[in-house]
Amino acid sequence: MKDDLNAFLEIFEDAKSYGEGPLSGKTIAIKDNMLFEGHKATAGSKILEGFVAPYDATVVKKLKEAGAIIVGRTNMDEFAMGSSTESSAYGVTKNPHDPERTPGGSSGGSAAAVAAGLVWGSLGSDTGGSIRQPAALCGIVGLKPTYGRVSRHGLIALGSSLDQIGPFAKTVSDAELIYNVIKGQDPMDSTTISEDTYSARKKFGKTIGVPRDFVEKEGISEEVKKNFEEAIAKFESLGYGIMDISLPSLAYALSAYYIILPAEASSNLARFDGVKYGIHKDGENSIDDYFKTRGEGFGEEVRRRIILGTYVLSSGYYDEYYGEAQKAKEAITAELRQAFRSVDLVLTPTTPSPAFKFGEKSSPLEMYLEDIFTVPANIAGCPAISLPSGFSGKLPLGIELTADLGREDNLFKAGKDFLNEN
Ligand code: GLN
Repeated sequence: MKDDLNAFLEIFEDAKSYGEGPLSGKTIAIKDNMLFEGHKATAGSKILEGFVAPYDATVVKKLKEAGAIIVGRTNMDEFAMGSSTESSAYGVTKNPHDPERTPGGSSGGSAAAVAAGLVWGSLGSDTGGSIRQPAALCGIVGLKPTYGRVSRHGLIALGSSLDQIGPFAKTVSDAELIYNVIKGQDPMDSTTISEDTYSARKKFGKTIGVPRDFVEKEGISEEVKKNFEEAIAKFESLGYGIMDISLPSLAYALSAYYIILPAEASSNLARFDGVKYGIHKDGENSIDDYFKTRGEGFGEEVRRRIILGTYVLSSGYYDEYYGEAQKAKEAITAELRQAFRSVDLVLTPTTPSPAFKFGEKSSPLEMYLEDIFTVPANIAGCPAISLPSGFSGKLPLGIELTADLGREDNLFKAGKDFLNEN
């Protein structure tokens, strides 16, 4: 396989099939934050250089059992912090549609590998949009499942209350196939849920809610706006009912996310101390070893979020920041769940604009705005899918459908309708 895009950090020489099952012979790439026994895993970070996974992540185990051939580990933003794969310690990944642009992130390698046809499917992780956003910018399908649907055992944690593993594929049917293999309750992850956790089944009535206030206020580009209107028209022509809905608390989602996420990340990343995993730098004494290892091992964005996270969790500010963000989380969740009493799905664009150039988003805040439409689903735990919805010139665009907890089935139905897969 020739990887001109730097989608892969490593292509496994010994790739093979471990079993027979629904994914027999299918080539799959995994994001570099998932453990595959005997193989390296760096989460795109220098601090994990040389680390070799001592066991399989549950998703990897399931892929093996299903017959998939895991062909390599893909590039990503360091510790999955970012929306462009530019924060990887191992160089950028190029967008297959335009090599001067990013594939999105943080699972940019996994998205680019599928879009370029290097693999049949791949896995990414999505904490605030890291599957859906790169799927949109690369013109493929990306699914973030319901929180707890897929085991996080063996996933290098970013924000534990938000992280979910999910598939990238060219079609909704293929994404569904991968999802059916990797999902399921796991004794190794106590946050996983049983199949019947959300058992009250509202019949799929083909109704889609559009939160116009939210979409229009958030400064989307003209081409995205036009494409979004076309997507609405397409759903109407397919017999879907479109309803305007109001979700005022979504306006707080991004701010809440950028408090909750750094808080959880700062605590998850405390384990990288230069002793247990990866690199070690010698200082004057043990605490100095710790500072040196972390100072040199972590990149800029990771250090920024650790500082932010420890700050919002500090005793004097906890209530003011973390406490307030938790209240926003409750409001967003309640509002979305209320909406799903009257609609089956919520539709927004996936991103405010198509793929951007390397270095174009020069401030962290500009980069964070990429996540405006994707973070609400993580905050509320809802499943959401990005579907390719057309092009602006040669650059792909995507729309995002969000469903109620446990209702991936509705995403698959509407997704197949939209992409004419039926
Ligand atoms: N872009 C978001 C962030 O930087 C989302 C990351 C993710 O989903 N892993 O936090």
